[in-house]
Amino acid sequence: MLAKLRRFAERALIGDSVPALVRWGKLVPPSLVRSIQLGAFGEMVRYAARHQKFFGRKLREKGIDPGRVRRPEDLGDVFTTPEDLLRLPPEDFLCREPQVVFETTGTSGSPKRVYFGYDELEFAGRYEAAGLYQNGVRPGDRVVCTFDAGYWISGWVSFFACKQIGVFCSAIGKPRPEDFYSRLGGYRYNVIMADPTWLVSLSEIAEKRGVYPIKVIFAAGDRMTRAYRDYVERVWNAPVVLGYGSTEAGGGVGMECLRRDGYHLDEFNFLFETLDRDANGYGELVVTTLSRRTMPLVRYRTRDVTRFIEDRCACGITLRRVAPVKGRRDEMVVMGAGNMHPEIFEKVLDGVEGISDVWQVAVRQEGVRDVLEFRLELTNGVNPSAVEALVRKNLEARYPEVWANHLCGMYRIDFRFSPPGTHERGRKPKRLVDERKE
Ligand SMILES: [Zn+2]
Repeated sequence: MLAKLRRFAERALIGDSVPALVRWGKLVPPSLVRSIQLGAFGEMVRYAARHQKFFGRKLREKGIDPGRVRRPEDLGDVFTTPEDLLRLPPEDFLCREPQVVFETTGTSGSPKRVYFGYDELEFAGRYEAAGLYQNGVRPGDRVVCTFDAGYWISGWVSFFACKQIGVFCSAIGKPRPEDFYSRLGGYRYNVIMADPTWLVSLSEIAEKRGVYPIKVIFAAGDRMTRAYRDYVERVWNAPVVLGYGSTEAGGGVGMECLRRDGYHLDEFNFLFETLDRDANGYGELVVTTLSRRTMPLVRYRTRDVTRFIEDRCACGITLRRVAPVKGRRDEMVVMGAGNMHPEIFEKVLDGVEGISDVWQVAVRQEGVRDVLEFRLELTNGVNPSAVEALVRKNLEARYPEVWANHLCGMYRIDFRFSPPGTHERGRKPKRLVDERKE
């Protein structure tokens, strides 16, 4: 019986229509998902051992027989890291001739390059399509996708996703919001896919000049704060659904459902682990690609800190969810205040009037004392001491345990104010930096 169900599932995963795939996402029991994942994981390990220089070398160094690997733990401390991708030539990861390349946008330094085949891009689109379909996108809708073009993958995968559903799609790169606004009504777009900050700018224009009927808005989850989301939803009177992914993962690995409580993971094409979990289950998300053959990644350390949500979601999808990313592991700073993530300061600065959204918090050292320094740009001549007082008040109210460490002298709080435009702007400026000496 299970074998028969499994054969049906495998056919649905590869061959059936997108609506059929979504139906399967609700029928397939988690135990079967796990069994399909582990089967694909074993195959991937054997494939990568044969074809990928990097992984083959790692297995030899550790004396691991790929034929005996059944689950991730069997690989011990064999991982693929972002640093490996930066340090080694692409040939060390390529298993067959590539057809496309994309780059990631790092916080600093050179980009990571990830290669794919055409078939792999289209296939990634199929799973994004399932996410769009589950959230209400149907033929007859008109999708506009304004993710950055260039070497950025999201626009392509979204385009293929729309193709799979048979829905109208303009994937147009990232126009200036004011230029785009004048086309919104003309082309009758009713589904928008975009970056959080771009969406906020577009919404500001629409708030003044009028909104059009929008069914649903999709945004990349990175840096979409609660305040941004509430504002955009209010302006358009439409839900904002977030996706989670990266270039390394080949676009999306998870997407929210309309309940908007965590990202449902694409457990058919990826196997997920969390590493070094804390008491609340938060750890670094580690991803193995299960269906890619051009440049597969075995146990890729995303550096994103999150946790699994094990309860079954009320939307009916049986796929597991992860919580919104709490921060980057390489942005986490352990200090007198506790384990600090950028997310903490996002929440502390949320609602503080008169500062720009480009800010940084630095951890410095003075003698043997840690200093938490808020570096803020003042935008409208507001009194700095009022900002200071509000930030302290928010920290006390929203993170009492962090505040308690302050009260008992574990660290000092400092402020540095500057005029708008002082701080470096880029796709991902570092929000929390550790400037203490080793
Ligand atoms: Zn759900």
